[in-house]
Amino acid sequence: MFDIIVIGAGPAGMTAAIYARRAAKTVLVLEAMSYGGQIINTPEIENYPAAAHISGFDFAAGVYNQAKELGAEFRFEKAVEIEDRGEEKRVRTPKNEYAAKAVIIATGSVNRRLGLEGEEKLIGRGISYCATCDGAFFRKKTVAVVGGGNTALEDALYLADLAEKVYLIHRRDSFRGEESTVTRLRERENVEFVLNSVVRTLHADKKLSAVEVVNKQGEKRTLAVDGLFVAVGRIPENRNFAKLIALDAAGYAVAGEDCRTQTEGIFVAGDNRVKEVRQLVTATADGAVAATEAIKYING
Ligand code: NAP
Repeated sequence: MFDIIVIGAGPAGMTAAIYARRAAKTVLVLEAMSYGGQIINTPEIENYPAAAHISGFDFAAGVYNQAKELGAEFRFEKAVEIEDRGEEKRVRTPKNEYAAKAVIIATGSVNRRLGLEGEEKLIGRGISYCATCDGAFFRKKTVAVVGGGNTALEDALYLADLAEKVYLIHRRDSFRGEESTVTRLRERENVEFVLNSVVRTLHADKKLSAVEVVNKQGEKRTLAVDGLFVAVGRIPENRNFAKLIALDAAGYAVAGEDCRTQTEGIFVAGDNRVKEVRQLVTATADGAVAATEAIKYING
């Protein structure tokens, strides 16, 4: 029996593990993929205090090593279910079952799809959800980025250094992401803004060859592209735990700043929680708060 099981080894989950270990609680971190969460796809973090220039990968590795050195145990298994037995919580993975006094769900979110015909089949054949992972395949080629948040803006900027031409397609004419990044994009000669427009059709033979966009006036335009980078937000990964935690209409776990859910002993931390600002700094802050609350709960 562990004191705390943390589900998810992103910045929120790993920070929770650090705080729990510093309070001498036993900690198991369960992670479905590899440690780091979505921050590993960020080439350079510039807005985390005292780390003016660090790659997302190095940041994640630093937090992971810190948690390991403090004695957190990591297992790379996907948590698929939590059973609440009051003072004991059981967390199931496809292979094993683990017990803990408290559970912190820090599962983050997954990429939202555009929902277009052929989209799934073209992943890896022109469609990508990660510019830093796949951008190098499009060196000197023509690509489009869809979205108007920070991810789309940063992806477009990153791709502008590699590709010959980048279309930035956004459904409105103002951006959700930071103005300073929009300004940097406007200064790039190889970036063309395609605003008030959505992608309606994907053209492909074996690989993506073009996208058809339509604007608010109903005018169509076909853009010949080798790659389409979809950055239209993320969907919280809470479905497996919906029996025990309340979710809002968009699927985010309903919990206040204390990270407590409606089930005693179950906490949520990071991007899968209802919140206004989803940033690295708020994810790590959530991890600290959730662990502190879990420790209070265990100590009674
Ligand atoms: P986001 O901020 O939710 O933006 C998603 C974008 O996709 C929005 O512009 C939205 O348009 C558009 N969109 C959504 N569904 C669409 C659809 N079906 N078709 C076309 N467009 C669609 O997501 P994000 O950019 O992934 O960022 C997630 C969070 O991480 C944000 O809080 C962001 O600030 C943060 N983040 C921060 C940094 C950083 O600080 N450096 C970097 C990356 C991400 P509308 O604007 O019209 O809704």
